[in-house]
Amino acid sequence: MSFQSYKAQKRVIEFLQTAIKQDRVAHGYLFYGPKCAYKREIAIEFAKVVNCEKGQLDPCDECPTCMQIQSGNHPDVVVIEPDGNVIKMEQIKQLQHRFRYQSAPGMTRVVILDSADRMRIETANTLLKFLEEPTSSMLAILITEQEKSIVQTVRSRCQTVRFVEPSWLELAKRWQVHGIQPPMNYVLAQCSYEFEQLEMDSDELEKIFRHVIEWSQLLVSKQSTAIVTIQEPWFQEMIQKKQVTLVLDFLMIWLRYVSRLTIRMSDENMVDFIQQGRNIAKRTTQNACAKMMEQVMITRKLVARPELSDQSLIEQLVIQLQKDAPSDWTKLGYS
Ligand SMILES: [Zn+2]
Repeated sequence: MSFQSYKAQKRVIEFLQTAIKQDRVAHGYLFYGPKCAYKREIAIEFAKVVNCEKGQLDPCDECPTCMQIQSGNHPDVVVIEPDGNVIKMEQIKQLQHRFRYQSAPGMTRVVILDSADRMRIETANTLLKFLEEPTSSMLAILITEQEKSIVQTVRSRCQTVRFVEPSWLELAKRWQVHGIQPPMNYVLAQCSYEFEQLEMDSDELEKIFRHVIEWSQLLVSKQSTAIVTIQEPWFQEMIQKKQVTLVLDFLMIWLRYVSRLTIRMSDENMVDFIQQGRNIAKRTTQNACAKMMEQVMITRKLVARPELSDQSLIEQLVIQLQKDAPSDWTKLGYS
């Protein structure tokens, strides 16, 4: 991997490379932006490039330093993420202990704090004080989704760097690198999952997606069996594995696709599903799809809450969605 692998973040990369070129790399950076914007990956690339033995604007990926950083084994590059719910003071103390001696000459120590918003003010202040000790050649990269979720005192001591949402095509390519083949890589590109969250391969994912398509046909056609689908083994398995959100995301993606087909907008990356898409699109409207998507979104926000049962949430969703389906469906001849 190098900076070139993250084309969507071209402006971020140019900004970081300019800092290197002008020898003006700051002590602290705040990387913020959407979940799948490769903030952590680019932070690692940055750690490599400021230390790469070849001293270029892109990490060489061949020198021992680049390779050690990439594999997560470099003693001077540390990634800290919440231990449980928060980044604890204890983790910062451990870091201070680890870095109590000077680094090797010419080496910039890098601390990457993923989900830096999950850190209490006193922890953040301890960290910043440590980073700003004049003797240390250190660089901290804080990563978060919302810029404002980081307290002002911390933010003001960092250079803020905004990441943009990558395109679906770019995200699809990344899923393919993780072994997810078309068309499912493109489907997954439309929802925000990290690779580690999904323990399924392309075939398993496609099976679920096709189940969702069949389910949507029942939903839109107001067939009473739509509610029975929830009892089917695949659905029950998703409930047990606490992956109802994936089912809802798939339904959302599917409805969006159908909605576009109602106005004859196709998407070549979804061509494997076009026949079923057209069958449904013929019998619904863009407006009805929009209403259904709204309901799915509401349910999506409620799932996985401990006080609510996912199963009954989905049952309520089915009832609601069938209310929103066009009432003259049967007249249109679908059964
Ligand atoms: Zn290198």
